[in-house]
Amino acid sequence: MILRFTSDSPEDTLAIARALGAALRPGDVVALTGDLGAGKTLFCKGVGEALGIPPDRIVSPTFTIVTEYAGPVPLTHIDVFRLSGAPEADEIGMRELLSGDGVCLVEWAEKITELLPTDCIQVKFSNSDDDRREIAVDAPDLPRFDDFRERSIRFQQH
Ligand code: ADP
Ligand code: MG
Repeated sequence: MILRFTSDSPEDTLAIARALGAALRPGDVVALTGDLGAGKTLFCKGVGEALGIPPDRIVSPTFTIVTEYAGPVPLTHIDVFRLSGAPEADEIGMRELLSGDGVCLVEWAEKITELLPTDCIQVKFSNSDDDRREIAVDAPDLPRFDDFRERSIRFQQH
């Protein structure tokens, strides 16, 4: 199932992310792709909020690569921007991180495509223009994502 959204503000992006976050379960991997400033980290804040983690605690992990948050559902926030690619990610234990017990969010996921689970949830940002973003979410056809579809309907493109 691919849902296409138009976000007209950071608040819209947060709302879409919270709706997705509410549908996530332990073991899910969310792969975020899009240019610098597209809104990937902001989206992670919204997902985290839905999982019970205060949004101000979620910051860009670019310099740390991996940040783990304890919460009702553990959250692992990864940013692979500074890694050279899949082999280096593999060396630092990316497979283990991606198969952990919590929800895993990966920024710049296109750099480690080979390591991503085939059933991961893809979030792609494109056509950034001032405050507008196009966001495509590709999620498995599972009933729990129907709730996400309903909760995010006002941002969907028709
Ligand atoms: P990334 O992690 O993709 O590099 P960030 O989430 O760190 O991007 O930053 C996105 C920036 O773009 C923030 O400063 C945010 O306020 C701004 N912005 C403006 N409009 C939007 C929008 N519709 N959705 C997301 N971010 C937006
Ligand atoms: Mg970021």
